Amino acid sequence: MYRSVLVVVVFFAAACKGGANAASAANSNSVASGTPVTAHISDTGAAVPGPTSTTQASAPGSAPANRVPNEMGRIMVLEYHLITDHNADYARERGQFRKDLELLYNRGYRPVNMSDVLDKKLNLPRGLSPVVIVFDDASPEQFRYIENNGKLDIDPTSGMGIWLDFRKTHPDWNNKAVFCLLSGAAAGHNFFGDRGVQGQKSNWRFRKVKWLADNGFELCDHTLWHAQLNKYPDAFVQEQIARNALAIDSAVPGYKIRSMALPQGLWPKNRALASKGSWTNPKTGKTVTYDWPVVFEVAGGPMRSPYDPAFNPGKTPRIQVIGNAIENMINKLEQAGNMYISDGDPSVIARPAVGSTATATTPGAKR
Ligand SMILES: [Zn+2]
Repeated sequence: MYRSVLVVVVFFAAACKGGANAASAANSNSVASGTPVTAHISDTGAAVPGPTSTTQASAPGSAPANRVPNEMGRIMVLEYHLITDHNADYARERGQFRKDLELLYNRGYRPVNMSDVLDKKLNLPRGLSPVVIVFDDASPEQFRYIENNGKLDIDPTSGMGIWLDFRKTHPDWNNKAVFCLLSGAAAGHNFFGDRGVQGQKSNWRFRKVKWLADNGFELCDHTLWHAQLNKYPDAFVQEQIARNALAIDSAVPGYKIRSMALPQGLWPKNRALASKGSWTNPKTGKTVTYDWPVVFEVAGGPMRSPYDPAFNPGKTPRIQVIGNAIENMINKLEQAGNMYISDGDPSVIARPAVGSTATATTPGAKR
């Protein structure tokens, strides 16, 4: 922790800011970009009438109407930070967060873990779309306890409290979301609060992380204290990542981490170290290794389907939840007709039929 004294300033001066442009500039995953790669996918769009405002047409709990299965389509990976009392680039007001969940639900989205994407286990009912929701920085605003006569309850005003309350009225909204954790940053960004920050006790930290894993959520590495990995030598980069992985393992022994999120979207000079590396504790001589397929960037649009040959989890783009970003992206995907929509059959990959529009509208055409 001696190093985090310096980091207090660095972390909150920068807190996830500034990296977005760096990460997104070269990303080729934008929606409806008209790139040759997506050309075949947008064929489906022409067959889908009324791409927007499908919400009213559907009964509660059912998929919006007119959703043609397309398991080659794009998947949104949403990125949240604080869930709190105001909206900002790195904060979502609580009521707005609840509205986000409602919007996603009504537009046909259901949460999945990134590991479900990796494993191609997106077993959603026909007509529904997966969405990966990621919470960065392990703040108490995301997951806070309240102590009632020695019993710990999840604070209903924390992000997790709002999530669980939403589930009460939306039972098919599963406990699936990815928490990209810090275990040694300042001001409570240490497994959701320590040393009295927002009333959180240090000895609740591991319990929260374990609760997440036990209840279906996915754990992800976000470095020890949010170090800007581009600034440091290889050994330091690996120490930041490996020591955090070790902390997660201490909270949930044997947990298999499959993803990390780059603080501020900044890659280390040696990019490979984001997903694979090792660190030897100089005191004990013990070596910690890490090796995972997913590296989350901070921006870049929706990711490709795991069935798309260009799917590249080692450079997974995300969508920062700012303003109307979610609704805008849903509209964009619907208009382009290139979002992932399940066919409800895990044994079949629904692909948009190339040229289906042409053959359907030209009866008698030579085959
Ligand atoms: Zn962060």
